[in-house]
Amino acid sequence: MTAMLADIGPDNAAPVVEASHRERKRIIIIGGGFAGIAAARALRRADVDLILIDRRNHHIFQPLLYQVATAVLSPAEIAAPIRQLEVKQQNLSVLLAEVTGVDLASRTIEASSPGLGVRKIAFDYLVVATGMRPSYFGHDEFARYAPGLKSLSDAETIRAKILGAFEVAAATEDESERSRQMTFVLVGAGPTGVELAASLAQMVKVTLRGNFRHIDPARASIILLDAGKRVLPTFAESLSQRVTRRLTKLGVKVLTDLKVETVDVEGVIAGGNRILSATVLWTAGVAASPIPKMLGTKIDRAGRALVDPFLRVVDAPGVFVVGDAASVMQDEHPVPGVAQAAIQQGRYVGRLIAKELKGRNVKRSFRYFDKGNMAVVGKNYAVLERGWLRTSGTLTWLVWAFIHILALPQLQNRLRVQRQWLWSYFTGQRSSRLIAEPPRDTAPGSDR
Ligand SMILES: Cc1cc2nc3c(=O)[nH]c(=O)nc-3n(C[C@H](O)[C@H](O)[C@H](O)COP(=O)(O)OP(=O)(O)OC[C@H]3O[C@@H](n4cnc5c(N)ncnc54)[C@H](O)[C@@H]3O)c2cc1C
Repeated sequence: MTAMLADIGPDNAAPVVEASHRERKRIIIIGGGFAGIAAARALRRADVDLILIDRRNHHIFQPLLYQVATAVLSPAEIAAPIRQLEVKQQNLSVLLAEVTGVDLASRTIEASSPGLGVRKIAFDYLVVATGMRPSYFGHDEFARYAPGLKSLSDAETIRAKILGAFEVAAATEDESERSRQMTFVLVGAGPTGVELAASLAQMVKVTLRGNFRHIDPARASIILLDAGKRVLPTFAESLSQRVTRRLTKLGVKVLTDLKVETVDVEGVIAGGNRILSATVLWTAGVAASPIPKMLGTKIDRAGRALVDPFLRVVDAPGVFVVGDAASVMQDEHPVPGVAQAAIQQGRYVGRLIAKELKGRNVKRSFRYFDKGNMAVVGKNYAVLERGWLRTSGTLTWLVWAFIHILALPQLQNRLRVQRQWLWSYFTGQRSSRLIAEPPRDTAPGSDR
């Protein structure tokens, strides 16, 4: 393993070891998310040098990030070290570095990290699996006031913001500032916005009950805003309606057809009206990482690479894009940006490369098998859509819980999440209610 990385070349100045001069083919996978890891695993028996590069040392189970943001789970419970893969897979090296460039002419990528400097690494095959990041639709200035939810540190920031707001509300004697601190606005009513809003509603009603002498957290105002016509637009309309009713029952105010014009220190302006809020959370749009653009291929409006039916970049032999970073059409519909699609694409490309290396021709193009779409709306309620099947309620929620436990990356994640869920279910308590940094003064006019 060490030898594999040692001959990459120490830095920019050093000659790049040409992949084609090597005995074994070198495959570089950028991104240790669902797609990248699935590709790596599919290549576990291949006689290749495989390098998996990620700027983080951990894989995140993103579907449960909202539970870290609302203190149900702690970060370690939904993440697993990517490096652990080296134990199981002899042909794999993990490199903690950020890829900053791709040069298809010289077939090299450029990676950088503090201990490593900048290195060029040659490849025979390249698999780009760099996922998406929050998009503020051209208003990056909103990010300062409205964090998105994509990483563990985002989730911790949101958790600290929510818990900190109650502390400030309890301490202040200014009635209007107290009300601003106890108003939470979530922008974007897709699955993440819905799940986060419902979990927050239960936290204020159950977990925080009786915790404050001078305020009643249950009186907090939780507003879910969306510019579209309904919540969960990728689900059937009947399920959207059921979810809206459920959210309303939990105390969430759902405002659709309302565009956010400004996010600032005071809160938001939406549809011309000012909503005062100290905690605005961005659950609206996503855009691809910059890497697909570096491939010089066509990209869609969200920055995803348009790939052929074999997930290849056109006119770039041996270069693939998988997962959220790829724009793939199937039966005239885009393949959705969900974990299952990413896993299936990564696995497909891993197998395709393994077959090619054995001299076999792959004739079957990628086909996404849709196992269904789910969203959870607080305790005892989830919705499921699969083909013609649409279900909601407690049984669906149990199915959701079962599937998510099984899908967690490691046995220890599964055991720990199960234990926390049982504790939380029967006591209403959440064991990760930490504010790592003391809350800052977020009143308008303060330096934040
Ligand atoms: C909050 C949230 C909730 C979600 N809930 C669900 C759900 O309930 N069900 C569902 O199916 N899907 C859900 N999704 C979507 C799902 O998580 C994605 O579809 C899936 O993660 C895509 O996998 P991926 O491998 O393409 O990208 P990711 O899993 O995002 O992985 C990309 C990896 O690339 C790395 N990377 C990026 N750029 C670089 C670079 N330049 N250099 C090095 N490394 C880089 C990143 O660090 C990351 O590890 C959710 C997503 C979010 C954000």
